[in-house]
Amino acid sequence: MPYSKGPKPREAASKIAHMEVINNPAIANILQNLKVDSAPKKPNAATPALNVDFSIPTKIEQVLTVDAGLQTVPNPIRREKAMSFINPGVSILSLDDLKKIANDPMMDPRDMGNMLSRCTLRPAYLPLRGVRMTGRTMRDTLREIINASLLPAVTGLYEVLEFLLFEQWLPSGSVKSPRSMNCLFCRDTFDIPEKQIFSCPHCGFEHFLSDYLGLLSSSDPVEQPSETIANSFMRVLELLCLFRLPMLATKNGKHDRLEKILFIKDGSLMLRAEGFRVIDGVRRYLQWLRSRGVTMHLAGVEKTGNMVEFLANFPDAVPCDGDVLIPSRQFLNEEIQGKVYDPTNPRNRVSFGTRVGVRLSASHVVALQVPSNDLTNGGPENPKPNDLPELEEVVRALSKVTSSRYENSLIPLVLANRQVSLAQSSSSRLLEEYVIGLIS
Ligand SMILES: [Zn+2]
Repeated sequence: MPYSKGPKPREAASKIAHMEVINNPAIANILQNLKVDSAPKKPNAATPALNVDFSIPTKIEQVLTVDAGLQTVPNPIRREKAMSFINPGVSILSLDDLKKIANDPMMDPRDMGNMLSRCTLRPAYLPLRGVRMTGRTMRDTLREIINASLLPAVTGLYEVLEFLLFEQWLPSGSVKSPRSMNCLFCRDTFDIPEKQIFSCPHCGFEHFLSDYLGLLSSSDPVEQPSETIANSFMRVLELLCLFRLPMLATKNGKHDRLEKILFIKDGSLMLRAEGFRVIDGVRRYLQWLRSRGVTMHLAGVEKTGNMVEFLANFPDAVPCDGDVLIPSRQFLNEEIQGKVYDPTNPRNRVSFGTRVGVRLSASHVVALQVPSNDLTNGGPENPKPNDLPELEEVVRALSKVTSSRYENSLIPLVLANRQVSLAQSSSSRLLEEYVIGLIS
């Protein structure tokens, strides 16, 4: 066959289709606006507010990392039936072991496994497609399953949820902030009692405390739930995992142990939408710990998003090791997130972390969220180093656990991610068999 220099017929067709798209005036206009004539310039305000001295030894002795995996398993015979499996877990490593791993990138994974003391909870299962309890709607099936997943036999995380929602760090008899919700049946508002199951005083409809999480908002097409519900539930489980150890320390009067632990959460310190109800409890708890002089070193490590992209574009915003960029909310909104800044509306109910960018090494620039002194509206409009009292210690500890093998990664997160995905791949077949047994 003679060699042809022209485009293959399919390529030619796709080129023509492409041209037609550009001829569309609306699309041509946005493409025009996407074009930039010059390389982006680092905004002048993007200069470090703080430099952390890495030569000072850290007080941190252990690193606790929270992570969760989500896997959707369709029934291999009936693809219209599927379940989601959420695998929440916490790993605890001593900083000394982490340093050994950092210095020996070729370390045998089995040795790493031995160092890792991991507390994996039983996974939570959520029906996704074509699976529901006999005689129940999809919505009620999901409500029952979410409630059951929090019980002691599965994740046992109801204890943490109740702790955060009902301010159980306060002595009994203290005045607590009332919590109310709209009845799922009659829609009237009522105050919820400190219980896991309670009835609406207006119509008697029985609610679970997990209904208060608002994971199934009325607009969701819950008869065909998307993975969004599983994702939101996973975020809630991660957050509850994060506060399990602090809760135990508070309940047992062992706050001195908290100060030597660095808590790392994979992702942001926030829960979207109705999650503000839990965030409100988290904010109160963190403020209470501070008021008692208890230090909790906590960082959310963002791996995606505007802040990560900004730092990738402008690594010289933090030129030296230990440099910390603390953007104001205006700078964050306008320069980093490309949004409009509205100083008259600082309301934020979903976050308990302030964003910072940190250079940990020549090859490690990370986007973190750390809680500030004042958590009203998530944090100050114009945060200064003094507003983030634990930041220096957090950054110093993180500088000891950078991974040379994975670009821009922290070893505790690499290990935690691997544990979650290993658990998934090795048990994936078992899960599938389980699903077949359950729904075929
Ligand atoms: Zn009601």
